[in-house]
Amino acid sequence: MEKGKLIIISGPSGVGKNGIIERFINNPELNLAQVISMTSRERRESERDGIHYDFVTREYFEKAISDNKLLEYTEFLGNYYGTPIDSVERLRSLGKNVLLEVEATGAKQIRKIFPNSVSVFIVPSSLAELEKQIRERRKEEEDVVAERLNKARSELNLISDYKFVVNNDDPELAAELCSLIIKRYIDKAD
Ligand code: 5GP
Repeated sequence: MEKGKLIIISGPSGVGKNGIIERFINNPELNLAQVISMTSRERRESERDGIHYDFVTREYFEKAISDNKLLEYTEFLGNYYGTPIDSVERLRSLGKNVLLEVEATGAKQIRKIFPNSVSVFIVPSSLAELEKQIRERRKEEEDVVAERLNKARSELNLISDYKFVVNNDDPELAAELCSLIIKRYIDKAD
């Protein structure tokens, strides 16, 4: 069986990546599977362990790093996030195209290892809109909001590293564009 391909989706937190991904992840034409990342961040009330993330301690995460169990990892706002290699490889050997939703430094590490992967960056319609989303959705402390916005600004400087940029002005359309990009990429011979 042919191994599945790798699709990277990035975008500042608060841009609505999950809402877009949810709209196309089960499209049978795309044959996608999403890898569950590991994080040392605290679980939010709305999240479930093993579904949204594998929530682990910092010590557990650091052991995974030293045991080379992660395809990439990063520290984001004081918490670790990373992609377990075994999940990626298991899904690829089942022929699934693997979707990785990671921030920009993780995307860079993945592109180095898999130069043939396709990467899509989701941009907000404006920074003001992004700020509104971050404030409304998370109700976080002011310093965390400021850090998320800073990180968003620095991520927006890296969009030229991505093969495609999709604006989330209209989530339905953004999902359709992502589907088209992925379909074209998986149909293409390497
Ligand atoms: P949040 O705390 O809002 O769930 O995620 C914060 C950021 O971490 C988001 O930009 C998200 O894309 C990114 N992220 C989630 N999982 C991973 C991962 O496995 N690796 C990397 N590098 N970033 C991740």
